[in-house]
Amino acid sequence: MPLVVEKIENGTVIDHIPAGLGLKVLEILKIDRTYGARVALMMNVPSKKIGKKDIVKVEGKQLDEKAVNRIALVAPNATLNIIRKANVVEKKVVQLPKELLGVSKCPNPQCITNLEPIETIFRMENSKSSKYRCGFCEMAFEANELLL
Ligand SMILES: [Zn+2]
Repeated sequence: MPLVVEKIENGTVIDHIPAGLGLKVLEILKIDRTYGARVALMMNVPSKKIGKKDIVKVEGKQLDEKAVNRIALVAPNATLNIIRKANVVEKKVVQLPKELLGVSKCPNPQCITNLEPIETIFRMENSKSSKYRCGFCEMAFEANELLL
Protein backbone atom coordinates (compact mmCIF):
# COMPACT_ATOMS: atom_id res chain seq x y z
CA MET A 1 0.00 0.00 0.00
CA PRO A 2 1.39 3.43 -0.86
CA LEU A 3 2.43 5.69 1.95
CA VAL A 4 0.16 8.71 2.07
CA VAL A 5 1.67 11.98 3.13
CA GLU A 6 -0.43 15.07 3.68
CA LYS A 7 -0.29 17.69 0.96
CA ILE A 8 1.28 20.99 1.81
CA GLU A 9 -0.47 24.31 1.18
CA ASN A 10 2.47 26.57 0.39
CA GLY A 11 6.06 25.53 0.19
CA THR A 12 8.47 23.34 -1.73
CA VAL A 13 8.67 19.66 -2.58
CA ILE A 14 12.12 18.41 -3.46
CA ASP A 15 11.88 15.16 -5.39
CA HIS A 16 14.40 12.74 -6.96
CA ILE A 17 16.96 13.15 -4.21
CA PRO A 18 19.33 10.15 -4.26
CA ALA A 19 18.28 7.70 -1.51
CA GLY A 20 19.93 8.53 1.80
CA LEU A 21 20.57 12.18 1.06
CA GLY A 22 17.21 13.58 2.18
CA LEU A 23 18.63 14.32 5.62
CA LYS A 24 21.51 16.20 4.03
CA VAL A 25 19.01 18.28 2.08
CA LEU A 26 17.19 19.17 5.32
CA GLU A 27 20.54 20.16 6.79
CA ILE A 28 21.26 22.37 3.76
CA LEU A 29 17.88 24.04 4.26
CA LYS A 30 18.78 24.53 7.94
CA ILE A 31 15.66 22.69 9.02
CA ASP A 32 15.90 21.22 12.48
CA ARG A 33 13.62 20.76 15.50
CA THR A 34 13.16 24.54 15.80
CA TYR A 35 11.48 24.80 12.38
CA GLY A 36 7.86 25.46 13.23
CA ALA A 37 6.01 24.38 10.07
CA ARG A 38 5.26 20.95 8.60
CA VAL A 39 8.14 19.01 7.11
CA ALA A 40 8.02 15.53 5.60
CA LEU A 41 11.00 13.39 4.73
CA MET A 42 10.33 10.21 2.80
CA MET A 43 13.24 7.89 2.40
CA ASN A 44 13.84 5.01 0.02
CA VAL A 45 10.78 5.64 -2.14
CA PRO A 46 10.80 3.36 -5.22
CA SER A 47 11.59 5.37 -8.35
CA LYS A 48 11.51 4.25 -11.97
CA LYS A 49 14.17 6.82 -12.79
CA ILE A 50 16.78 6.28 -10.10
CA GLY A 51 15.84 3.05 -8.26
CA LYS A 52 15.27 4.51 -4.83
CA LYS A 53 14.89 8.14 -3.92
CA ASP A 54 14.22 10.47 -1.03
CA ILE A 55 11.57 13.20 -1.10
CA VAL A 56 11.44 16.25 1.11
CA LYS A 57 8.32 18.40 1.58
CA VAL A 58 8.65 21.66 3.42
CA GLU A 59 5.75 23.91 4.32
CA GLY A 60 6.36 27.64 4.15
CA LYS A 61 9.81 27.54 2.59
CA GLN A 62 10.96 29.32 -0.56
CA LEU A 63 14.44 28.38 -1.67
CA ASP A 64 16.87 31.09 -2.65
CA GLU A 65 19.47 30.58 -5.35
CA LYS A 66 22.24 29.64 -2.91
CA ALA A 67 20.07 26.94 -1.34
CA VAL A 68 19.18 25.56 -4.78
CA ASN A 69 22.87 25.49 -5.75
CA ARG A 70 23.79 23.67 -2.56
CA ILE A 71 21.08 21.10 -3.16
CA ALA A 72 22.42 20.64 -6.71
CA LEU A 73 25.80 19.69 -5.24
CA VAL A 74 24.35 16.65 -3.43
CA ALA A 75 21.36 15.94 -5.67
CA PRO A 76 22.20 17.09 -9.20
CA ASN A 77 18.99 15.60 -10.65
CA ALA A 78 16.55 16.73 -8.00
CA THR A 79 13.33 18.40 -9.06
CA LEU A 80 11.72 21.25 -7.19
CA ASN A 81 7.98 21.69 -7.09
CA ILE A 82 6.83 25.05 -5.83
CA ILE A 83 3.44 24.70 -4.13
CA ARG A 84 0.93 27.52 -3.72
CA LYS A 85 -2.57 26.90 -2.39
CA ALA A 86 -1.94 23.14 -2.61
CA ASN A 87 -1.17 23.30 -6.35
CA VAL A 88 2.13 22.92 -8.15
CA VAL A 89 2.73 26.34 -9.69
CA GLU A 90 6.27 25.75 -10.85
CA LYS A 91 8.47 22.73 -11.51
CA LYS A 92 12.17 22.94 -12.06
CA VAL A 93 15.08 20.56 -12.35
CA VAL A 94 18.08 21.70 -10.36
CA GLN A 95 21.31 22.06 -12.28
CA LEU A 96 24.90 22.30 -11.26
CA PRO A 97 25.76 25.94 -11.86
CA LYS A 98 28.84 27.01 -13.84
CA GLU A 99 29.96 29.16 -10.98
CA LEU A 100 29.48 28.85 -7.22
CA LEU A 101 29.88 32.15 -5.46
CA GLY A 102 29.98 32.03 -1.68
CA VAL A 103 28.12 28.72 -1.67
CA SER A 104 30.62 26.50 0.11
CA LYS A 105 33.95 26.37 1.87
CA CYS A 106 37.11 25.31 0.06
CA PRO A 107 38.09 21.76 1.18
CA ASN A 108 41.78 22.72 1.01
CA PRO A 109 42.70 23.80 4.56
CA GLN A 110 45.63 25.83 3.22
CA CYS A 111 43.40 27.86 0.91
CA ILE A 112 43.41 31.57 1.68
CA THR A 113 39.59 31.52 1.79
CA ASN A 114 39.89 29.40 4.97
CA LEU A 115 42.40 31.75 6.56
CA GLU A 116 40.85 35.08 5.76
CA PRO A 117 37.24 36.22 5.45
CA ILE A 118 37.02 35.97 1.67
CA GLU A 119 33.98 34.80 -0.27
CA THR A 120 34.80 31.57 -2.11
CA ILE A 121 34.37 31.08 -5.84
CA PHE A 122 34.43 27.77 -7.68
CA ARG A 123 34.15 27.36 -11.43
CA MET A 124 33.02 24.22 -13.22
CA GLU A 125 35.85 22.58 -15.14
CA ASN A 126 33.79 21.82 -18.23
CA SER A 127 30.13 21.33 -18.99
CA LYS A 128 30.30 17.50 -18.78
CA SER A 129 32.09 17.09 -15.48
CA SER A 130 30.86 17.80 -11.99
CA LYS A 131 34.32 19.04 -11.01
CA TYR A 132 34.92 22.52 -9.73
CA ARG A 133 38.16 24.47 -9.41
CA CYS A 134 38.74 26.93 -6.60
CA GLY A 135 39.33 30.46 -7.87
CA PHE A 136 41.96 31.03 -5.17
CA CYS A 137 44.07 27.91 -4.58
CA GLU A 138 43.24 26.42 -8.02
CA MET A 139 42.60 22.94 -6.62
CA ALA A 140 39.82 20.90 -8.25
CA PHE A 141 37.09 19.11 -6.31
CA GLU A 142 34.08 16.93 -7.05
CA ALA A 143 30.79 18.76 -6.56
CA ASN A 144 29.82 16.59 -3.58
CA GLU A 145 33.16 17.29 -1.85
CA LEU A 146 32.22 20.94 -1.62
CA LEU A 147 29.55 20.23 0.97
CA LEU A 148 31.67 18.32 3.46
ZN1 LIG B 1 40.68 26.97 -2.44
